[in-house]
Amino acid sequence: MARFTLPRDIYYGRGTLDVLKELSGKKAMVVVGGGSMRRFGFLTKVLENLKAAGIETRLFEGVEPDPSVETVMKGAAAMREFEPDWIVSIGGGSPIDAAKAMWVFYEYPETKFEDLITPFSFPTLRKKAHFLAIPSTSGTATEVTAFSVITDYQKGIKYPLADFNITPDVAIVDPDLAETMPQKLTAYTGMDALTHATEAYVSKLHGPFTDPLALKAISMVFKYLPDSYKGDHEAREQMHYAQCLAGMAFSNALLGIVHSMAHKTGAAFSTGHIPHGCANAIYLPYVIQYNAKDPEALERYHEIADMLGIEGDKKSQVFSLCERIWSYNDHFSIPRTLKSFGIDEDEFKQKLSKISEDAIGDACTGSNPRSITPKEMEHLFTCIYYGTPVDF
Ligand code: FE
Repeated sequence: MARFTLPRDIYYGRGTLDVLKELSGKKAMVVVGGGSMRRFGFLTKVLENLKAAGIETRLFEGVEPDPSVETVMKGAAAMREFEPDWIVSIGGGSPIDAAKAMWVFYEYPETKFEDLITPFSFPTLRKKAHFLAIPSTSGTATEVTAFSVITDYQKGIKYPLADFNITPDVAIVDPDLAETMPQKLTAYTGMDALTHATEAYVSKLHGPFTDPLALKAISMVFKYLPDSYKGDHEAREQMHYAQCLAGMAFSNALLGIVHSMAHKTGAAFSTGHIPHGCANAIYLPYVIQYNAKDPEALERYHEIADMLGIEGDKKSQVFSLCERIWSYNDHFSIPRTLKSFGIDEDEFKQKLSKISEDAIGDACTGSNPRSITPKEMEHLFTCIYYGTPVDF
């Protein structure tokens, strides 16, 4: 049995925050991050609109990037005290992800964090509250997905939580909020969205419900990301929708080893953090070359290339697709290799077997179209480090 789950309502367009005036409910806990939503006036607008709807509000502010288990527990405790029937989260991926996890502990205080680590094993939510998400970045698509990433800093582990119970009820995809993204973040989150759609399209779990969403998202990213990067309003708007379509696809078809590798290398090196979207952008063309050795995956990349108007036989189409991704990376000043990103060669060699093993163990590996051994993963990382062709 396959399942396809999305929010019941997705409101989109400029000024869509106004639909909050018509929300029916009694109390809303508003969960927000570090201050940009307040600075740009969007938080005030959300609170005013909820007030106009006759809904009492309480704020939970200051969710940090890569939210912690502690923040989740603090937010859940605040919710238990306030007893909201709506949870409204606004901002980048972090406050929305944190609010999703708070929701679980609000409804089930006796649950332990460890209980949630097994994917698709959550208790039934919506006994106490419904969930509304308003994204301000154009990448993670957490406003429509069944995922939340929470970090246990004591153990030094990032937990990707997954369950359709935490797919929001309502998403408000208002491109005015995406205007706040700086240029670099626009490029990274846009390439993250391209990776979501591409991995979902070739995933082992892809299907007739996810395919059209993934393909449309891929074509929109290629069409609009360069102008969105330049700050063009229309392109920013279309990218905000494209990332959401990609999210609908990958929430149901899952991802692949680009994400496995990005998850396990983001914080692995002493030379500094590799931002998620940047890591995905670097790894994607190499993983496409690796996966394309699988005949079914080759067929899928061929379909993507056809849609993009790339000509040639199937193998040369795959290479041209990779070249196109590299040309976008060049345009956004995203390096082609981990070496040029600035990762130290000795440290890379020293950590190669550990990051390879960790990446294989990541939750995203299972849906990748081609299986991978530790030796193959080490080879793939080595190709990415030096920029050598993937040929095995
Ligand atoms: Fe991602």
